[in-house]
Amino acid sequence: MKILVAEDDAVSRFMTVKALEQLGYACTATSDGHEAWECLEQDGFDVVISDWMMPRVDGIELCRRIRAVEHRRYTYFIILTALGEREFRLTGMRAGADDYLAKPLDREELMLRLVAAERVTRLHRRLEVQTAELERLNREFFESGRKDALTGVGNRRRMQEEIGAFEATLFEAKEPLSVALFDIDHFKRYNDTYLHLAGDDVLRRVAQVLSSHVGEPEGFYRFGGEEFLAVMRRPLGDARARVEHMRAAIEACQIPHVANPDARVITVSAGVAPVEVAAPAPLIDAIRAADEALLRAKRAGRNRVVASSD
Ligand code: GH3
Ligand code: MG
Ligand code: MG
Ligand code: MG
Repeated sequence: MKILVAEDDAVSRFMTVKALEQLGYACTATSDGHEAWECLEQDGFDVVISDWMMPRVDGIELCRRIRAVEHRRYTYFIILTALGEREFRLTGMRAGADDYLAKPLDREELMLRLVAAERVTRLHRRLEVQTAELERLNREFFESGRKDALTGVGNRRRMQEEIGAFEATLFEAKEPLSVALFDIDHFKRYNDTYLHLAGDDVLRRVAQVLSSHVGEPEGFYRFGGEEFLAVMRRPLGDARARVEHMRAAIEACQIPHVANPDARVITVSAGVAPVEVAAPAPLIDAIRAADEALLRAKRAGRNRVVASSD
């Protein structure tokens, strides 16, 4: 246990430090609450033994400050009160002190208090470790619930949650947004030819290649089985050019697909549409328009990009 002593009276401070050292504790001594607070900000202490009356920052104020930053780590606080200040013990405890000690200091009393301090401190440390672990698991759980298990890109739930944020920036920042819907061509035939596990590998690869073209403040999600949705912070013309680039990147992977009649490799078709600020449900309406454009890309022979305005 690391102990910090705050005491303005030199004799009393010396006695406290000596008593602590004789009991085998390492301690740091300061001569008022202000100095103690500076020490605490630089270094963590398990226990603070503080006088009540001190210049600049007194014991009560020191205790309040410590309690106000409790999110860091718990500090066990013992307040020292002279015999004439007994009535202040309640004030001290109410300000957040864990225990009190009467002055002049009695070695045995100090030992008893430190036994309790050690027990409580150990409990707090264990709680801190468990809380950190719970927070980590919670974050992990939150993330995994928004990730597609196969490809690792965002899933429908993430898409649903982020639609609101995209629409908010659309209304506030008046930034242009476009959406693109991608669909792998003749993917059923791929599965039928190479089997589903190979199909899964293709889905992962396609997701990885397509998502690498979509920036951080944008969105990329697995929309359905072999369909992916990109939300881009670009006007339709720019978005269309980028989607064309993405389509070409998939074709350039040259993943063999003998049952894809024309290309003989894995290809994607895509539909692109702008998000209209005035639309009743801007993002959803744009996805619908992109889906219609995608259908036209399929009908026109696949492995191509069609914009809703085409
Ligand atoms: P089109 O060019 O018209 O899009 O033809 P398609 O065969 O790709 O379209 P269709 O909708 O007929 O078939 C989609 C296929 O995607 C069928 C389904 O088995 C496959 N698929 C969907 N999800 C997965 C998956 O997670 N893994 C694998 N291996 N296949 C999947
Ligand atoms: Mg004093
Ligand atoms: Mg499909
Ligand atoms: Mg398909």
